[in-house]
Amino acid sequence: MHPGKFRFFGKLAVAMTLVALASGGQAWELQWYGQAAFRITTDSGKVILIDPFISGNPKTPEALKDLGKLGRVDLILLTHGHGDHVGDTAKIAEMTGAKVALNADFGHTFGTLGVVPYQQLIRFNKSGPIEPLGPGISITMVRAEHSSEYVHTDARSGKKGVYPGGEPAGYIIRLENGFTLYHAGDTGVFGDMKFIGEYYRPDLALLPIGGHFTMDPAHAAYAVRELLKPKSVIPMHYGTFPPLKGTPEQFIGALGEAPAQVIVMAPGESRKF
Ligand code: ZN
Repeated sequence: MHPGKFRFFGKLAVAMTLVALASGGQAWELQWYGQAAFRITTDSGKVILIDPFISGNPKTPEALKDLGKLGRVDLILLTHGHGDHVGDTAKIAEMTGAKVALNADFGHTFGTLGVVPYQQLIRFNKSGPIEPLGPGISITMVRAEHSSEYVHTDARSGKKGVYPGGEPAGYIIRLENGFTLYHAGDTGVFGDMKFIGEYYRPDLALLPIGGHFTMDPAHAAYAVRELLKPKSVIPMHYGTFPPLKGTPEQFIGALGEAPAQVIVMAPGESRKF
């Protein structure tokens, strides 16, 4: 190897080591349960669940469906009121004492129905970052192009009712080491994804690709290529139910030469970043 080249790669290695040290030298972990349900374990060991549809999720491996084995959960983030996103929130909040962060209006529905006690709720709204796990991890609610109703069955009367679920949302989560991920929730493509890309500069985007209720692979590919421009993308919200027909292969095909790295996870899989 040419000595100049060696110096360059030597410097690169030193720089990479310094970056690793600056971030605590640790990795945070992301686990996918299928649909839009994820578990984040941060560098400092804090656990965030997003849209924890687990025990009733056809894609979640059986071994993970036992909520008693979930262990520590510090925070649950809900994107909207639909059942395949709210999932096991009430049970997990009760078992773990985790705070539940959600749209302010949806929070009133949860609180008044007694789904989750008011004192465990963090009711907030868009563009007002919060740090519910202490300084170092910030969470910002962003827009999603979807709908949000909450269907609830009264435990005593057995009567089903439809309640306001606030506005649907996505989340920008900035971790201790500065890594920024964007969980889009359920969404169609919208022009303000350009703002999300420019303002938050997500390293990783978790995007629905299944179609029918959300973006299909072609719309999600447009969002990545033209608007969000994240470094990496994980497709989600596909294959869980028959109408969600989009596939990661179609998504990768539609992306073409876009520079984003596509990470296709298997339900239950964990990845370190
Ligand atoms: Zn939905």
